[in-house]
Amino acid sequence: MTSTTTDILDHWVDGKPWAGESDRVAPVFDPALGTQQRAVRMASAADVGSAVASATAALPAWRDASVATRSRFLLTFRELLNARKDELAQILTAEHGKVLSDAAGEIARGLEVVEFALSMPHLTKGEFSQNASTGVDVYSVREPVGVVGIITPFNFPAMVPLWFFPIAIAAGNTVVLKPSEKDPSASNWLAALAIEAGLPAGVLNVVHGDKEAVDALLVHPDVAAISFVGSTPIARYVYQTAAAHDKRVQALGGAKNHMLVLPDADLDLAADAAVNAGFGSAGERCMAVSVVLAVDSVADELVAKIAERMGGLRTGDGRRGCDMGPLITRAHRDTVAGYLDVAARDGADIVVDGRAVRPDGAADGFWLGPTLIDNVPTGSQVYRDEIFGPVLSVVRVGGFEQGVELINASPYGNGVAIFTNDGGAARRFQRQVTVGMIGVNVPIPVPVAYHSFGGWKASIFGDAKAYGPAGFAFFTREKAVTSRWLDPSHGGINLGFPQNS
Ligand code: NAD
Repeated sequence: MTSTTTDILDHWVDGKPWAGESDRVAPVFDPALGTQQRAVRMASAADVGSAVASATAALPAWRDASVATRSRFLLTFRELLNARKDELAQILTAEHGKVLSDAAGEIARGLEVVEFALSMPHLTKGEFSQNASTGVDVYSVREPVGVVGIITPFNFPAMVPLWFFPIAIAAGNTVVLKPSEKDPSASNWLAALAIEAGLPAGVLNVVHGDKEAVDALLVHPDVAAISFVGSTPIARYVYQTAAAHDKRVQALGGAKNHMLVLPDADLDLAADAAVNAGFGSAGERCMAVSVVLAVDSVADELVAKIAERMGGLRTGDGRRGCDMGPLITRAHRDTVAGYLDVAARDGADIVVDGRAVRPDGAADGFWLGPTLIDNVPTGSQVYRDEIFGPVLSVVRVGGFEQGVELINASPYGNGVAIFTNDGGAARRFQRQVTVGMIGVNVPIPVPVAYHSFGGWKASIFGDAKAYGPAGFAFFTREKAVTSRWLDPSHGGINLGFPQNS
């Protein structure tokens, strides 16, 4: 497209904004106003090549920088980010639409990963076996993998980049980040902050773009590893393409998260949880609860409690103290709203209709209010698809076994929750479900930064979860050294192990 605005967001290469060669741009909207607020450059393959060249040139010095130097950068970065988080939250709300409190929550979770990355001196200590054979020591160290490509989705424009680049950089890698073109400004803001915190130019680059930019990263011979988060079809494609080009890949995909409510649960707690987890960030969260599995005997009461709470939610401009903001684009809003027609056609009951909401904000915003659909048939697309909006489905089940059966039949396996006061049932649940992250009376079980984040089945491709120990392992590779020193004063050389082993 041709830009209608003079405000064009550049790439960030070699420590500064960079226009690149491509003249392609894409619009960036303010979803609460429904208007374009700026444009963003769309990189060509050659532009991506320049960013990779910058990261490649910066690699030797950064890889060889002392652990203390890298840690000091992270500490300063953490302090600056914490001090300026309100500024970043404003950017998130303006481009994504999520309310300011959700934006603050996203930044808080990102900060946790920066704090985890500060433990790099401890993580890279390695292992040492003295005298594995007489006079022979064996030790293992972990080194950076090289230039890392990070490709991120629109729904957490600060947190998901922060899941990866602090750990990658702390471990001595250099980075080319390709954020979502729908809300790209947060990535430039973070890259500029990193320079201010003392990061050498070229260690963290940002290229903006779409499939063309992603494809260029996936096949570039100087990119050693790819971290991806996004929808399942693209995650599968990224995994297969990057692996075919000899890269290590972690690719996190989509989700359809269930919450099973047993009859002995605290129904007020469960209703609060369903509303928070269903409609926070307008349901545009990969850990959002999308389906409540309500056991028949308590289903009517639970649905009434959820609907009552939804009546108290204020949908509107996230800058005006509302509870829920708009969706990311008009097209996505229309796709999500279309599921209400599907629900009606498939015989489900629309208990709360978000299309009727009058938002607190501009008429042209990409609005859809919180929506509750009961008695959703499991054959319906409303049940099967990842809707990724403020639509909560209720499926009624006979009991625990039927609930677990449905959860395990889902192609996705990102998050799941059980609400119960029965410890034995909770324990059985945790053992039986084929899901990567499980909440017991916790609706959004996102692990803290010193554990790792990731689902199972079609919610992840590759075996490396994000951040925590798995993230550290992904961004480093091990060297094992077997060492012997001649020491004549202690009997000279031992020629046994390792030659004969
Ligand atoms: P998306 O898959 O459309 O885009 C993700 C990234 O891939 C973006 O940077 C985009 O530019 C790029 N991309 C899009 N189409 C491409 C193509 N054809 N070829 C190559 N690259 C392409 O996802 P989205 O709409 O930005 O984000 C929402 C999705 O992300 C949801 O499915 C959500 O569940 C998922 N998500 C998953 C997690 C997780 O941890 N599992 C976390 C956040 C979001």
